[in-house]
Amino acid sequence: MKRRDVVILDLDGTLVDERGAVDEAFLAAARVVQDQAGVEANRFARTARVAAQRLWWKATWIDPLSDAFGISAWDGLSEDFTNAVPALDRLRAWLPSYRQAAWRLALGTVGVADTALAEAASSAYRQCRHQDVRLLPGATNLVGTLVHDRRLVLLTNGPGDGQRRKVESSGLLGLVPDVVISTEVGFAKPDRRAVSLAIERVGGQPDTAIMIGDTYDRDVLGALNCDVPAIWITGPVRPEHPAHPLVSPVMSTAEVLPVLHALENGGA
Ligand SMILES: [Mg+2]
Repeated sequence: MKRRDVVILDLDGTLVDERGAVDEAFLAAARVVQDQAGVEANRFARTARVAAQRLWWKATWIDPLSDAFGISAWDGLSEDFTNAVPALDRLRAWLPSYRQAAWRLALGTVGVADTALAEAASSAYRQCRHQDVRLLPGATNLVGTLVHDRRLVLLTNGPGDGQRRKVESSGLLGLVPDVVISTEVGFAKPDRRAVSLAIERVGGQPDTAIMIGDTYDRDVLGALNCDVPAIWITGPVRPEHPAHPLVSPVMSTAEVLPVLHALENGGA
């Protein structure tokens, strides 16, 4: 494979520990509930997840939006979707009542009716989501190495405010100032326009670009839709997908760099 001049980086699960951050946010809210209402924190955290998901999917008009923009109930609990395209106006207007209802439902499920506590839990979740940004092992080395002689661009599905906050507070913004976010541009991975736009943003060409991401259906398919190769971070248990000549699976972010170098030096 010839040298990849443009590297398109996914954010959540590739550079940033999104799953861990969401777990922490639910626990932060649950600790408030434990302190004030005596409900065991882990139990309430689980209950709150279910409640948030239930109300998110109950609004049937959310389904196509979630799919089109790659957004989740976890985002809805904390973000305001600032600078989103007009297609998300209805969602933005709905979010305050969604958050209120979700935390009230969670409390109600454990037998607590307390509006002020629902508000406190919501605040704790939001505060934690806005502060707790952790890079995954190997992410700093990956970006810090590639930035010296490649054009890097972040391509992420999600709310503009939330994703930008992660990029800023993780320190990535100084290294990767070019960020393309689905809710701001109007389309999401795996839409080929998302990958094309990311490449254009840094003045590159598809035939010398590569995608690095952890979600097959978003990152890998997005890349393949543009005939761009992908390094797919699968985690320890690789989901079933047929082998593809343009797809190189690795277990973790820390393995990406040696695999990229091996691909380029292999001359394939
Ligand atoms: Mg990801």
